[in-house]
Amino acid sequence: MSKLADAFKVDHGKSFRLKDFDSADTGKIKSKEEAAEILQNHLAELADLQEKLYAQDRWALLLVFQAMDAAGKDSLIKHVMSGVNPQGCQVHSFKQPSTEELDHDFLWRAAVRLPERGRIGIFNRSYYEEVLVVRVHKELLAKQHLPSELVDKKIWKCRFEDICNFERYLTHNGVVIRKFFLHVSKEEQKRRFLKRIEEPEKNWKFSEADVHERQCWDDYMDAYEDMIAHTTTPHAPWYIVPADHKWATQAIVGSAVIETLKELRPSFPTLDKSRRKELGTARILLEREGKPPKQKK
Ligand code: ATP
Ligand code: MG
Repeated sequence: MSKLADAFKVDHGKSFRLKDFDSADTGKIKSKEEAAEILQNHLAELADLQEKLYAQDRWALLLVFQAMDAAGKDSLIKHVMSGVNPQGCQVHSFKQPSTEELDHDFLWRAAVRLPERGRIGIFNRSYYEEVLVVRVHKELLAKQHLPSELVDKKIWKCRFEDICNFERYLTHNGVVIRKFFLHVSKEEQKRRFLKRIEEPEKNWKFSEADVHERQCWDDYMDAYEDMIAHTTTPHAPWYIVPADHKWATQAIVGSAVIETLKELRPSFPTLDKSRRKELGTARILLEREGKPPKQKK
């Protein structure tokens, strides 16, 4: 199923409205079974593309995942990446910043976690929290100890600009960026929270703080909408991935990742003449191993 994810990509931020996207949409996929088949095909394709990306050692791919709690970020990352070589993949989960991190500019902790060339980097939450949770809970901004003259109404617009400039800079350096907002409905989140309470093996995932956060749902949606409108760019687009059906979410994100990697056309490096000669010499040495040295006449 080609270009499954295209329908969910936001090309222009100008007229972006979250309400235009249905969190229960499944795109071209008609059933859970069809999604499972798509995912199965993705695994082999992704493994092949990743191996070439790694061998070529030129591009890095950064995948950013943002969502409300219980939207399925963790299981998505597990599924989509289940076929890739862990050596070529770097996952980082961004939690509340430490004192050291708060003493730096807000992009600092993300910059040191960026994927190396040839790798796929996954940000489970990211620097985008700086215009989401920090915007919804303004007391978090106070903890950042910014000079007071820099904290005014313009701060969010400045952060959007800084993020766009940072992403442009990364793009110029061979880091390809794709960003995913897992769009879950408030009703589906409630169902998932209740499941976490009812099913003993899911109890560990439940947190009262998540239920508390849910009370700020509308503020979060406003913050997400503004963020996506200001930070979707041709080189670092957002995908609004419907997340009420996890099987659809996984197939759509998998397709987006594969399409992106295909555009890079990764291939195994070819050897130049001198390197081929070096390999020829190494082969002779290996074949000679254990054989008596040739007698001089
Ligand atoms: P899960 O609940 O599935 O384990 P999670 O991503 O929700 O995953 P938590 O430890 O529950 O992980 O939450 C991390 C918290 O850290 C979130 O509430 C998030 O908003 C918060 N956080 C992340 N980045 C920042 C930031 N820059 N400033 C303040 N809070 C942040
Ligand atoms: Mg959480």
